[in-house]
Amino acid sequence: MPAKYNDERFWAAFWAKTRVEGDCLLWTGKTITHRGEARGFVWCGDIGKWRAAHQVSLEGKLGRPIAQGKQANHTCDRTLCVAEDHVYEGTQQQNVDDMFARGRANKARGDRSGRSKLTEVQIREIRGKLAEGNLQWMLAKEYGVSIQTISAIKNNTRRQGIGV
Ligand SMILES: [Zn+2]
Repeated sequence: MPAKYNDERFWAAFWAKTRVEGDCLLWTGKTITHRGEARGFVWCGDIGKWRAAHQVSLEGKLGRPIAQGKQANHTCDRTLCVAEDHVYEGTQQQNVDDMFARGRANKARGDRSGRSKLTEVQIREIRGKLAEGNLQWMLAKEYGVSIQTISAIKNNTRRQGIGV
């Protein structure tokens, strides 16, 4: 059984273990590092178990357990994020598909001209993130462009007017 959905004390304690970072709400409670990635865990006293914090956040939003065959996916690629808006019930494949789709949609919304192009500022950001070791496909998703575009930036071959 999942965490208590209507337990105000549980949720007060849950949200107290988070901090705002950008649009995200990052878990500051217990973490376990698995394959080099820190994952948040919350103690669920009603079932006497530690559970993944982002799964509990999602179930709290849904008011029910995550369906069989589904998982708690992130829209923001931050495993420690427990923002209700950033977790959704989906499949593993959906996780990958939706990340790319959403990236493109976000980009289109943010571009009044209807032609999605990266700004110089964004290109500089992407270069910086590449230098920090961010993966190309993740940046492609984040900025709503193709991996080829990110690759081009990495190779410094195209500076301006990069379309999607
Ligand atoms: Zn987030």
